[in-house]
Amino acid sequence: MHFVEVAVPVPLRQTFTYSCDILPEPGCRVSISFGPRNLVGVVTGELTAPENPDKIKAIDKIIDDTPVLDRVLLKLCHWLSQYYLHPIGEVIHTVLPVLLRKGESASPVDEVWWHAADNIDENLAALKRAKRQYACLEALVDEPVREGDLKNTFPSTIINALEEKGFIRQESKPPPLRPKMWLDYFDVAKKPLPDKEQAVAISTIVQSRSRFAPYLLEGVTGSGKTEVYLQAIEDVLAEGRQVLILVPEIGLTPQTVSRFASRFGIDIGILHSQLNDKDRLSVWQRARAGELGVIIGTRSAIFTPMKFPGMIIVDEEHDDSYKQQDGLRYHARDLAVMRAHTENIPLVLGTATPSLETLNNALTKRYGHLQLTKRAGGASKTHQQVLDVRDQRLQFGIADGMLSIMRQHLSMGNQVLVFVNRRGYAPALICHHCGHSYDCRRCERPYTVHRTQQRLQCHHCGGARPIPRQCEHCGENKLITAGVGTEQIEDGLAKMFPGVKQIRIDSDSVRGKDKLQRSLDDINAQKYQLLIGTQILSKGHHFPHVTLVVVLDCDGALFSADFRASEKLAQLVTQLAGRAGRASKPGEMWLQTHNPGHPLLQDLVHNGYAHFARQALDERKLSWMPPFQSQAVIRSEATNGELAWEFLEQVRTLLQSEVVRLNGPLPCLIEKRQGRYRFMLVLQSAQRKAINDLLRRALPNITSLPTASKVRWSLDVDPSDF
Ligand code: ADP
Ligand code: ZN
Repeated sequence: MHFVEVAVPVPLRQTFTYSCDILPEPGCRVSISFGPRNLVGVVTGELTAPENPDKIKAIDKIIDDTPVLDRVLLKLCHWLSQYYLHPIGEVIHTVLPVLLRKGESASPVDEVWWHAADNIDENLAALKRAKRQYACLEALVDEPVREGDLKNTFPSTIINALEEKGFIRQESKPPPLRPKMWLDYFDVAKKPLPDKEQAVAISTIVQSRSRFAPYLLEGVTGSGKTEVYLQAIEDVLAEGRQVLILVPEIGLTPQTVSRFASRFGIDIGILHSQLNDKDRLSVWQRARAGELGVIIGTRSAIFTPMKFPGMIIVDEEHDDSYKQQDGLRYHARDLAVMRAHTENIPLVLGTATPSLETLNNALTKRYGHLQLTKRAGGASKTHQQVLDVRDQRLQFGIADGMLSIMRQHLSMGNQVLVFVNRRGYAPALICHHCGHSYDCRRCERPYTVHRTQQRLQCHHCGGARPIPRQCEHCGENKLITAGVGTEQIEDGLAKMFPGVKQIRIDSDSVRGKDKLQRSLDDINAQKYQLLIGTQILSKGHHFPHVTLVVVLDCDGALFSADFRASEKLAQLVTQLAGRAGRASKPGEMWLQTHNPGHPLLQDLVHNGYAHFARQALDERKLSWMPPFQSQAVIRSEATNGELAWEFLEQVRTLLQSEVVRLNGPLPCLIEKRQGRYRFMLVLQSAQRKAINDLLRRALPNITSLPTASKVRWSLDVDPSDF
């Protein structure tokens, strides 16, 4: 009899002991009964001398012969559980593909093969008059044929008839695994000669390819970072080792994939949130078997097993989509660092606008720092300027001066990109007579007016209602909109520039598979001259014919309560500027503002992101903020606001420490959502470990607070928003 510790997908911060006759390896799945339920758990280790051995339940079934979580992934699960203080069973549940959580086989699905039965000659003779059946049996004479291939030539009726006669029989067997199969056709296509900075970056990365070596590749937009990735992984792939590339949610376009596929002529494993469970499992299996040389995926792709790990790349490492905002709130970029360390391989974090966390690691030499300061192919930098809109007439949010600059660019046949940070027609509907504002009752925030869909929509909870005709408060017919969104700009510009073809790109207009891609292709085919859109336009796409970028409102971020707002604004503005003026067309960018003298804007515009970011780091240091201090936040939500607040008040009394500062309970930045009031308690310290220790010790007591079961609460380590 053996005893094992099993991680079970329940919100309890412990493993459970089970007994078994055969000892499964750590990382294997087992079915177990847990209370009244049957669950799939994962063995985390053996236990030699449990207390009360006769009370221990036996495992129902061992599901895997070989672990679904290899040594490295199991180690990462333990790290995740400890670092994010998240129950190990739930961590493992998050890490596994959905079908494996449900207990499905981790081996590739069996393939069916058809064989000819004995006495072939006799059987063939008997089929002299059934031509099709004769041909089908004949096809199997020399060797068995895969069912799929056989059915391409012969209908099922023929195959079934032969089987009934006993002339052929089928056999199921797992498909052969073909580790390093890309090496059979790996070939490097024509590539540009790297410039000096690229060459330095490539050779530095390549030289450290058999050990842990993290790098920040800080390269202005269009400086050829992707080209550096491509040339740096060449040797890794040629040596038969695999490369895992993480991209932001919206950056995984067919172009990205085809750049890697066509350079090396190989199959790429693709993992993104829209993939179905079966395809996801298949990529997971092929990566684990070492069949795929390159795997490109969004956040959760960091959990993909690799048989021959060679390198990890995180593109646009500053992107928000790498942070999971519910359940296990991990940061895929930070996990990538841990993973590369555990696998003992290099890691490249690439971006034009490094997060202050990563930049600090590079400046303090924890990471190697590779820089690309020039745009590739001779394209010039976009010239940035601030447009003072004080006292200027604004039409649908655009100043007259801005309109005339736009007119110039349009008249030269170039494209103009207008950035607005709000989708919809207007961010509020109010009564011009009584001042009544239409707010979502559940979130106490104004509804956004959507003209195309003819409704009011809450951007916090998704709730919607029809657009009213009269004021529900005073009954007058004087409802007006306040503020501008993408739809309104689209309307206004259509009137202002009749005949100029325009397209709106926001999450409303590009809903649906491939719609974004088609729109982007149309833009680059110059079917449109005016592009109006949100964040989506700032992410990774190149618009070679855009010569003017207009940012309509950057004042909000300058005065935000979120200490990261200015960093986010600077990244957004810089990324947007990078979309414009490729190749032969120089670009310019204008930022409309009521605060033209604001030091942040001035620094950004005159000195660029790299300078701004270093200044911002100094400021964070002086004001005791991340990355110089660590943070964790406990959030609490309830329909009864007092209860949510009281819970955190009680938590606070459980968290006494000399080195951890407590801030709160405070209302969250979004104070109410979906009918629930939201509060937070922020923990901050110069010692990351002190926060972790304090929370670890207090968690059992927090969990058993009577109020804990009456509110929704969660713990977020290294929170990225508040
Ligand atoms: P980034 O990833 O930094 O945005 P890319 O790698 O996409 O930059 O490069 C931008 C453009 O410049 C691409 O069209 C790419 O093919 C081209 N390019 C990159 N490096 C070179 C080079 N050394 N010589 C010529 N063209 C290059
Ligand atoms: Zn709402």
